[in-house]
Amino acid sequence: MTSGRKILKSPSPSKSKRSSLMMTQGSVDVYAAQCNSCMKWRVIDTQEEFEEIRHKVIQEPFYCSNKPNRSCDVPADLNYDSTRTWVIDKPNLPKTPKGFKKSLVLRKDYSKLDAYYITPTGKKLRTRNEIAAYLRDNPQYEGISVTDFDFSSPKIMQDTIPEIFQQKDSSIKKVKQPKNDL
Ligand SMILES: [Zn+2]
Repeated sequence: MTSGRKILKSPSPSKSKRSSLMMTQGSVDVYAAQCNSCMKWRVIDTQEEFEEIRHKVIQEPFYCSNKPNRSCDVPADLNYDSTRTWVIDKPNLPKTPKGFKKSLVLRKDYSKLDAYYITPTGKKLRTRNEIAAYLRDNPQYEGISVTDFDFSSPKIMQDTIPEIFQQKDSSIKKVKQPKNDL
């Protein structure tokens, strides 16, 4: 009964200067950013646009007015709630180099997102070493560096995943011990 569950991604967990990504059925298909003024969420149309916002979100916070036909007076495009799973990116991550595509896939147990890149020739690269080797073998990508690729996994917001997958605080609760001092 959980089919169609969606996932959201956002570049900064701090209370301002956020933007976000939304995902469906294990991979990202909708992106969103949060207004730094009214805190409403706005849908971002493309991954490229999202990465552009995320790339400079500290220096240039996102506002509703950055989008055509939007202002802080217009109701939010979507709301942060558990009808979707949200994941949050660090701010100022590198933009994916032109021609490459970054993919994030959520594990079935909601524990982690796995990042990989698809090259302009359709090759799937899963590690920095694979990126380095590919760039070395393809000198036409001169100017693109390994540091333009980022495999870090966004933070999964625990309060927005299905309850059965939420991490239990068993380690904390286990500490409770009977007091039998007498
Ligand atoms: Zn706003």
